[in-house]
Amino acid sequence: MGYLAPAGTAIAPHAAAAALLGGAIRGRSHEKLARVLAAHSGHARAWLVSTGRAAMTTTLTAMKRLAPERTEVIVPAYTCYSVPAAVKLAGLTPRLCDVDARTLSPDLAQLERFDPARVLAVVSANLYGLPNALTELESFAKARGYRLLDDAAQGLGARFAGRPVGGFGDAGLYSFDKGKNITSIEGGAIVSGDAELCAQIDRQWQSLLPTRALHTATVAAKLMLYSVMLRPVAYGIVNRLPLGLGQTPWEDNYPLARYSPVLAAVTLRLYRDLDRLTRSRSENAARLAAALSDVPGVSLPAVLAGAEPAWTRFPLFISAERRARALVALQSAGIGATASYPRALCDVPEVLALIPAEDATQLQARRVADTIVTLPTHQYVPEDLGSRVRDILLKL
Ligand SMILES: *Cc1c(COP(=O)(O)O)cnc(C)c1O
Repeated sequence: MGYLAPAGTAIAPHAAAAALLGGAIRGRSHEKLARVLAAHSGHARAWLVSTGRAAMTTTLTAMKRLAPERTEVIVPAYTCYSVPAAVKLAGLTPRLCDVDARTLSPDLAQLERFDPARVLAVVSANLYGLPNALTELESFAKARGYRLLDDAAQGLGARFAGRPVGGFGDAGLYSFDKGKNITSIEGGAIVSGDAELCAQIDRQWQSLLPTRALHTATVAAKLMLYSVMLRPVAYGIVNRLPLGLGQTPWEDNYPLARYSPVLAAVTLRLYRDLDRLTRSRSENAARLAAALSDVPGVSLPAVLAGAEPAWTRFPLFISAERRARALVALQSAGIGATASYPRALCDVPEVLALIPAEDATQLQARRVADTIVTLPTHQYVPEDLGSRVRDILLKL
C-alpha cells in the first residue's frame, strides 16, 4: 500500500532522463524557460536562479538599490521561513503582518500599522497554491508608494481575478523545489515588468555565478531518485530514512547562483503539463473538501472570491488538542499529512531576533500554526483519499 508523499510532482524516470539529456546536449532550455515564465506571468521579463530564496534575495536587493532609504519588508506572519531569511540576506528588516486564519491572506487592516515611508515592499504568500487577496494587496501597496513582491513559490498555475499568481505587483517569483507545483529538485525564477526594476534585477543577475557542473550532476541524480521514490510503494521506504524531509530549518547563508540550463530543461518539460497537473490537483482537492466538509472539529480553508487555487497541498484546520493525534493516525495509515510550518514567524527565534517588539505577537498566524494540517493532492493520490481521511478523523 505504501505511503503517500505530502507533496510532489509525478515525473516518469524516462521523461526525467530524456529532459536532463536534452538539456545537457541542446542547452537552449534556459532562454526558452525564461520566455515561457515571463509570458505565463504577464510580465515582460524573467530571470532564472538557483532557488526561490535566491530569487527573493536578488529581487529585494534590486528594489533596495532603487530606494536605499527604505529598509523594511512586510512579510505575512505565517509563511515559509525562507522569506524572512531572504529579507535578512538582502540586508533588510522583516516586519510581520498577521494573516486571516481562514483564507491565510495578509490582513489588510494590519498593514495600516506600518510607516509607508520606511517600507520597501510587501510580500504575498499564496501558500498551498491558494491565492491571497492580490488585487487588494497590489492597489494597497501602490497607494502607499511601496512595492508588492508576489511570492508564487507555491502558486504557479493559480489565478486570481483572472490573472496569474506571480504576476501581481512589481515583481513575482516561482520555485522549482521538491514540494512545489513543478520541480527540478531545486530552482527559482523572478518575473518583472517595471523597467527600472528590470534593469536592476538584470545587473544583479549578471553578477551571479553559474551553477557548478558538479552540483548540477548531484541534483540530476536526486531528480532521478525522486522520480522513482515519489511513488507510494517506494516512498514508504524513503519516509523511514532519517533524511530530515519535511523539516523546516532556518537557513540564511544559501548560495545565490544562476539556474542550471540542464535543470531548466526538466522544468520546461513539466511546464508543458502544468494545466493538466493543476487540474488533477484541483480535482483531488475538491474531493477532499467534499468528504471532509462536515467532520466535527475540522474546518476547511476559505477560498477568496475570484481565486482559482493551484492546490499544491490541501490545508485544513483541526483543533490544537486533537491535531497531534490526527497526524499520528493519518501518518500510520500511510497518508503524508503534515503540520506544515510548525510556528508563526513571530515564534521562530531567528525571526524574533530581527523584528521590532511590536511585531512579536501575531494571534491569527499562531492559530494557523497550531491547527493546520496539510494533505497531499499530487497525481498518486487515490480517489478515495477523502473518505479514508474522513473515517480516520471521525474515529479520533
Ligand atoms: C518554498 C518557498 C520559498 C523558497 O523557495 P526555495 O526554492 O525553496 O528556496 C519562498 N516562499 C514560499 C512561500 C515557499 O513556499
